[in-house]
This record gives sequence, C-alpha cells and structure tokens, in this order.
Amino acid sequence: MLTEIKGLNEECGVFGIWGHEKAAEITYYGLHALQHRGQEGAGVVTSDGETLKVHKGLGLVNDVFKQAEFSDLSGHAAVGHVRYPTQGDGGIDNVQPLLFRSQTGSMALAHNGNIMNAYKLRGELEREGSILQTTSDTEVLAHLIKRNRKTSTVESMKDALQEIIGAYAFAILKEDKMYVALDPRGLRPLSIGKLGDAYVVSSETCAFDIIGATFEREVLPGELITISDDGIETTRFALREPRNMCAMEYVYFSRPDSDLNHVNVHASRKRMGIELAKESPVEADVVTGVPDSSISAAIGYAEQSGIPYELGLIKNRYVGRTFIQPSQELREQGVKMKLSPVRGIVDGKRVVMIDDSIVRGTTSKRIVRMLKEAGAKEVHVRIASPPIENPCYYGIDISTREELIAANNSVDEICDLIGADSVAYLSTDGLENAIVKDKTINQGICNACFTGNYPVSEDKQASISYTRS
Ligand code: AMP
Ligand code: SF4
Repeated sequence: MLTEIKGLNEECGVFGIWGHEKAAEITYYGLHALQHRGQEGAGVVTSDGETLKVHKGLGLVNDVFKQAEFSDLSGHAAVGHVRYPTQGDGGIDNVQPLLFRSQTGSMALAHNGNIMNAYKLRGELEREGSILQTTSDTEVLAHLIKRNRKTSTVESMKDALQEIIGAYAFAILKEDKMYVALDPRGLRPLSIGKLGDAYVVSSETCAFDIIGATFEREVLPGELITISDDGIETTRFALREPRNMCAMEYVYFSRPDSDLNHVNVHASRKRMGIELAKESPVEADVVTGVPDSSISAAIGYAEQSGIPYELGLIKNRYVGRTFIQPSQELREQGVKMKLSPVRGIVDGKRVVMIDDSIVRGTTSKRIVRMLKEAGAKEVHVRIASPPIENPCYYGIDISTREELIAANNSVDEICDLIGADSVAYLSTDGLENAIVKDKTINQGICNACFTGNYPVSEDKQASISYTRS
C-alpha cells in the first residue's frame, strides 16, 4: 500500500537562467508567466560567480519584487520559484529557492513536485546529525547532496537523486554552475530554452514566450543537466523509463499557451471537449465553460456537438488580489467574488456547462445554482476529465480520498448533490486520446488520480506500474 503523505503537497513553478547580464529581471518575468502555478510566495536567487544572493517573500511575484530589489540581485545566473498555497506548513521559511551557505560553497534549490520518502530521509539525516531548517521536502535533497562524499558535485547529485522517490523537477544553482533534474518518470514538466547565448529552464514553455526565448528541448526523465560558462552537459541518474507526464497538467494546471512534452495544452483541452461531446452528447441550446481553465474544452465540445459556444460565466480577474472576502451572511445573500452568470445568455436556455474537473464538488454545485438562478432551464454538467477518485502523491494538491466527491459517490449521486439535470465525465481512454498524440513522441501519461494506477510507489522507484488494490 502507498502510505498517505501528509504535510506539504504543492504544485509550484521553477525557472532558471544561465549567462545573461539581467538574470534577475528575466527570472522575474519568467515567474510572472508561471504565477498560476503558485501564489503563496516567490523568490529569486542569483549568482555573480562568487556569491549567491537571495530575495523572496510571501505573496504574488509583483508583491514580492519591486524595482529596488533588482539592484541587489546582480549576477549572470538565477533560479526562481513560485509556490502554491499549502494546507500544512506555510510561512517564509518554506518559500523557495531554499539557499544553503557553507564554507565549501553555497547552493540554492527550486523544486516542483513531491518527495514521497522525504519523511523517512529526514529521520535518517537527523539521526546522522543534520539540523533541518524548514519543513520542506526540498531541503532533504540539499542535505543528501551535501553529506555525499563524492569529489564531483554531479556525482554527489546523482547519488542523492537516486535516494529520493517521487515526482520532481529541480533547478539548483551554485556559484559556478546550474543543475537541472527531472524524476525518472518525468511526471512534472520541465523544458530548456535559449535566449541569445543564455540557457533558460522553465516548468512551462509559456515563460519562454514572455521573455522572447526559444524552446530547445524537454528535460528527459532521469536526466541531470549541468549548465555553466562551458555550455551544457548531460548525464543520467536513472535508467530510461517510459514517461508519465501528469494528466492534470493538461486538464487544469498548465497555461493553455504552454506545450508540455510536445503537446499544446489548449489543443489537448479542446480535444478533451471533442471526445466528451462524442461520448456524452446532450440536447441543449448553449455550451459554456467555467473560466478560465475550462474554456478550451468548452470550445471543443461546442465544435463537435454543433451547439453554439457562449460566454455564460464571467470571472472577475482581480479576485486573487481581494483581501476582504464576503461574510457567510453576505454570501448567502448572493454576493459572489469570483464568477458571475451572464443572465442574457443563459436565461430560458438549456445549458451545457463544461468544467475541467470536479474535486470536492463545491464549485460545480455553486455554479449550477448560479446558472439556475440566472434563469437556465436545464444545466447539463460535462466534465472534461474522468472522476477523481484517488489522492495524488506527486505534488498536486488533490488531498485525501474522504474529500473527493467521486471517491464516495456514483455519477448519479454526484448529479443529485450538485443539483444538475445530468452529469457525465470524460472516459480515461478519451482523456488519453486527447493528450497522447503519438506514443513514440509523447509516450504515456500519469492518470493515477483517476485510475489508481500509480506509476511510482514509495517502495519501488519508477520501475513497475503500481496498481492500488
Ligand atoms: P471543487 O470545488 O473542489 O470540486 O473544485 C473543482 C475545481 O477546482 C475545478 O473546476 C478545477 O478548475 C479546480 N481544480 C482542479 N484540481 C485542482 C487542484 N488540485 N487544486 C485546486 N484547484 C483545482
Ligand atoms: Fe497528476 Fe493525478 Fe498523476 Fe497526480 S495522480 S501526477 S494529479 S495525473
């Protein structure tokens, strides 16, 4: 059995650049493009070849960085990080990149993912005398690298990476080099680009477009890349395994303009909508998507079904910056912060409401009620991914089975619970067809939260598919 991992469970964004005189500013723009991957905190560490400098804080990238900060962040190399709000420990100590200084050199780590055996490794490290400063799983890797006695950093890193189990994309900065590593199954996205002569690395390619960089290639599963003034060198720390890119990156997390493992996110979502319309058609007057992540799938559903796509719901784009939330009393009176129905579009209509996923079911319930209050005659909910029945151990905040509506209810029961006229989900085959265009190019996906087939388990690193009994 996989053990339930408690504690930090985060989806984050990493960015790095080597060989650019404005490394800190470029990283700021890169993090801006990755802001959707984490809003709790942001940080940048730079290297000028001799020392590492850090600036980080809680909040959005724009809140953490002001113009003055950049004059202190000199250097030709940088790594940056945006952090997702966590359920467990938060606070500035866990905001990344984590920076460790020592007489033999400093090291900054930016990580997206989850080290499943972090708790066990922490115990071992503490018994050997390490004093860990944060509750972040990322710190474990730093200690594993540091305690390794190999003469070269790359060899120490390879040993350390072989000890950790889970899903991870790392960008690590030392004074004279940057290192980039991806877990043996490639669960998390990570790409390399070029900006002039500089190398850039990012969780998502949308950050390359914003800074004017060109995509070079994906970081491969089990690959450790070293970037320095001598160029780029690659080695492996794990055998080549089939890739299992996280399906939820396509379904919900990544930006539509990003390409993950050679597949554009918007295009894959549109195909999810097309597959969904083929599998679960319904007679209706309009198709609408829950902004922003479901718009692409709604366009696909409308195209395939021939039912017109309409803007039936509007998102207030400033909601993330609002500190005064309505009280329960005001909420009950109908004060909504995030989404509003477009009455003129849905009034008197049979509406197909496309959402990318249902986790706990609270969002769908609220939106169905909202559309009905705005006059919708019928609301047919179509979900552009299969039912989420299993928790994620690989860094996405899909918490415990008890909270997952689909783990505890049939589709008919979900329909009753959210007050819809009908509910249908995309099949797992439909999801795979929408994402995997060519098995020789983008290979497989992880769909464990839908199927329970975990590609990596805590006791067997990236070797066989783990099937939950
Ligand atoms: P819920 O109300 O819990 O069912 O939330 C479902 C909505 O949250 C979906 O419409 C998604 O857009 C979004 N979502 C899906 N997965 C996650 C996640 N892991 N963390 C936060 N939001 C998510
Ligand atoms: Fe992504 Fe789900 Fe796999 Fe987690 S279990 S990595 S959310 S597909």
